[in-house]
Amino acid sequence: MLNRNLIGGEWIAAHAATVNSSPSDTSDIVGEYASADTQDVENAIEAAANAFPAWSRTTPEFRSDILDRAGNEIIARQDEIGRVLAREEGKTLPEAIGETVRAGRIFKYFAGEALRLEGERLDSVRSGIEVELIREPEGVIGIITPWNFPIAIPAWKIAPALAHGNTVVFKPAELVPGCAWIITDILARAGIPAGVFNLVMGKGSVVGDAIVKSNRVRAVSFTGSVATGRRIGIGCMERGKKVQLELGGKNPLIIAADADLDVAVNVAINGSYFSTGQRCTASSRLVVDDSIHDVFVERMVAAMSRLKVDNALKAGVDVGPVASSSQLAQDLAYIDLGRKEGAKLAFGGEPLQLDTEGYFLQPALFIETDNTMRINREEIFGPVASVIRVRDYEEAVAVANDTEFGLASGICTTSLKLTSDFKRRSQAGMVMVNVPTAGVDYHVPFGGRKASSYGAREQGKHAREFYTALKTVYIRP
Ligand code: NAP
Repeated sequence: MLNRNLIGGEWIAAHAATVNSSPSDTSDIVGEYASADTQDVENAIEAAANAFPAWSRTTPEFRSDILDRAGNEIIARQDEIGRVLAREEGKTLPEAIGETVRAGRIFKYFAGEALRLEGERLDSVRSGIEVELIREPEGVIGIITPWNFPIAIPAWKIAPALAHGNTVVFKPAELVPGCAWIITDILARAGIPAGVFNLVMGKGSVVGDAIVKSNRVRAVSFTGSVATGRRIGIGCMERGKKVQLELGGKNPLIIAADADLDVAVNVAINGSYFSTGQRCTASSRLVVDDSIHDVFVERMVAAMSRLKVDNALKAGVDVGPVASSSQLAQDLAYIDLGRKEGAKLAFGGEPLQLDTEGYFLQPALFIETDNTMRINREEIFGPVASVIRVRDYEEAVAVANDTEFGLASGICTTSLKLTSDFKRRSQAGMVMVNVPTAGVDYHVPFGGRKASSYGAREQGKHAREFYTALKTVYIRP
């Protein structure tokens, strides 16, 4: 069954397959998964378009019950699904189980949102006329997701799309079809009508491209790299489609002079290196006040030397492998570049040979860097962070904001004054005080500014901005 896509309610065999192997142990084969061609995508889009009129008229309760059943099953099977996630993506088993539970909770949250969709009624400025604002589903939504959160990101797009009465064509990243297949199987058994939800696993350049180019897809929600996102954004605009892009980050974490150093080191270690640093919200620039720079670096190095890097499935592992050989090559190329730019490695940066053949990398900390270096301007997307030494808080804020990105930012401080100032002046979409830049709630908006995001926010009740169209109705009763 893994070598089949769900199209129009049927599990359809594909003409080609991809082998999904574990980055912790390349001899561990998770499965052989279908790889769709453009005809499969066309069929999926047609099925979604045909299913839309009936699905958009179902009661909110009908849609809510399906999403709730799916959420319950995901949570009930958290250990088993988490294991597939850890095997195919490489985050540690506890992280993978945590992500699975979060995905289940997201389905349950949007089961509630299906029941809470509301409009507005106003008096017109003209006498005798009433005005109503109605929210309606958009139609067929194309969902294109990255590999780093293989179950949570699909969940936070699929659940609101369905909750608000849209039909879906879903293309997961080729690297992580396992979780996508499981979500699809669960939704199919939770009672989703034929054609309402379609899975087309396969290459971005084939499947993703066909979704973007189809005139029957009304809107595309994409998470991934800036380069791909911008191409998709332009493709959607050329065809008059609604588009939502969640892209990269180069997130700063300020360690202020008055920071509690225990908190600061914990927050930096978690934000920079957990999930192997492969989070769009990872803290990649540690902006550290001169007065505490040396002691902070010393304590970071001590903490990093205690991190256990190994197979994601082993107990007690803190950092799993890098997700793929190409991502490992990118991380190593940036580490090499950092050295050439004059930065010094205070810790790590070497590939590790362990018991199993995998893509293991000792988490790296650069010091003696400045904010003009490419390692501090471009997203590396691995367990690599830089320390940028600053004179004072004012310079720290300037450095934090001096980036093309604006996803998350953080500060470690014990001062209410700095907290209050930073939360206003940070040019990021999400600001964290004494908590890691990575790690967010699912019931509040997620997204960034500048090059990090484009379009409406994801998650929480604000997700409806993207997944519904607003209609204004004038009535003379
Ligand atoms: P990516 O290479 O841009 O791929 C993302 C998705 O787009 C994949 O499903 C990919 O398919 C597909 N794709 C590739 N080329 C395409 C094309 N021409 N047309 C349509 N779709 C295409 O990103 P990634 O490497 O998977 O993910 C890492 C990136 O995601 C990082 O930059 C990270 O910061 C970002 N990210 C952002 C957020 C956020 O919310 N801001 C969250 C997580 C990750 P394939 O599987 O075939 O490559």
